[in-house]
Amino acid sequence: MPDHNQTAPGELEVVRRFINTWSIPNDTREKTDALPELARTREVWRKEFPHQSRSRNDALGRLLRLRADLRSACQGDSSSEDALNKWFDSAALSVKTRWIGGAAKLTIESSEASFVGYIVAIVANAIASGEWARLKTCPDCQWAFYDHTRNGGKRWCGMTKGGPDGRACGTIAKVTAYRAREAMKARVT
Ligand SMILES: [Zn+2]
Repeated sequence: MPDHNQTAPGELEVVRRFINTWSIPNDTREKTDALPELARTREVWRKEFPHQSRSRNDALGRLLRLRADLRSACQGDSSSEDALNKWFDSAALSVKTRWIGGAAKLTIESSEASFVGYIVAIVANAIASGEWARLKTCPDCQWAFYDHTRNGGKRWCGMTKGGPDGRACGTIAKVTAYRAREAMKARVT
């Protein structure tokens, strides 16, 4: 898997895209929120989320709160536990058995027909499968990415400027750490 591949598997990718409706684009380096425009214009929404329509349960305020809570949860903030549990209640999640490939599999579903319900159910399934732990936000630019590395130890969104996103987060931190080590060595010898 190439280093710059940040897409999440399956429907978790929709959650990643939703989280990244707030971003700090590489070219402007200014905090940008695409969600108000998405909520305002049906065509823009359809372009970003072609398979999920918005319902009356998807008011902008609710979407903004969900996105903020998902961002905290991606950052490994344990206080997001309560917030997530409230979303699970709010979206009326329940556990169902589905026959997939001839075997009974448990899936978590929302009985709320809304974008929020759809997203919250994916998050719950991802936590159950362990995939959620690999959805992370970059400590530098806050971009949400999926960690495909074998050991799951990726911290920054991208280490090379040559990637399609053109970011170089983590590079400066690496250089700083390298210089600190070299300075330490110079002092010892
Ligand atoms: Zn980054």
